[in-house]
Amino acid sequence: MNSSPNPMLDMLSQLSADRPELQPLLEAMRTQHLTHAEEVEEGPTREELLLQNEQLVALLKRARHEIKRLDALVENLQQETDATAQLQHDLAAALGACPHCWGTDPGCGSCRGRGGPGAYPTDQPLYARFVRPAVRRQAGPPPAPAAPAGAANPTFNPQP
Ligand SMILES: [Zn+2]
Repeated sequence: MNSSPNPMLDMLSQLSADRPELQPLLEAMRTQHLTHAEEVEEGPTREELLLQNEQLVALLKRARHEIKRLDALVENLQQETDATAQLQHDLAAALGACPHCWGTDPGCGSCRGRGGPGAYPTDQPLYARFVRPAVRRQAGPPPAPAAPAGAANPTFNPQP
C-alpha cells in the first residue's frame, strides 16, 4: 500500500497551500489532529475518538463555509473590477484617449505615451453621455426657466 504515514496532515498541508487565507483554521485543525494522535498512543476511549471526530467535522464544515464565503467575495470583486474597467474604457473613448494608459506611459504598446485626451477621435455617443454635460456645466448655468410672477429664483444672480 502506497499511503502516506499521515494522510490527514498531508490533506491539511495541501489545503493550506491551496487556500492560504484558511491558514489559521487549518492550523487549528492540525494542532487538534496532532493532539489526537498523541492521545491515540495513550489509548483514548471510543467516546473521546467520537468527540474528536465530531470536532474535526465541525472544523471542516467551517472551512467549507469560509471557502464559499470567500468565493462569493472574489466573484463580487471580479464583477466590480469588470465594471470599473468598462467605465474606464468608455471614458477614454469619450475623451479620445488611449484606453490602456491615457497617454501616461511612454512604454505603452498602443500609444507610446502619446494617447492623452484628444489624441484620437472621440466616440460621439460616449462623448455626449460623459463629457458634454460636464462641458455645459462648466460653461455656466442654463437660462432660468420662466417662473410664475412673484416667485423667487434663488439661483439667478445677475452680475452688473
Ligand atoms: Zn497608451
